[in-house]
Amino acid sequence: MGRRVMMKYSHLLCPVCGTTMTIPRRADSLRIEGHIKTMYCAICANKRDFIENNYRTLDQKEALIKRAE
Ligand SMILES: [Zn+2]
Repeated sequence: MGRRVMMKYSHLLCPVCGTTMTIPRRADSLRIEGHIKTMYCAICANKRDFIENNYRTLDQKEALIKRAE
């Protein structure tokens, strides 16, 4: 079909438990790969410094988690 709705999402990775939170974000503020955003992690039940993780592959994501350990 024709039109795509351009919904932009940011994926933020918890460096402690590896959970990924997806939050809607305006397209004009997407250029922040690697940005740290402190959010509450429901898995850790604590605030974590989530890492903006929009473009990495799963392997790279796992490497990122290992580095944070
Ligand atoms: Zn966590």
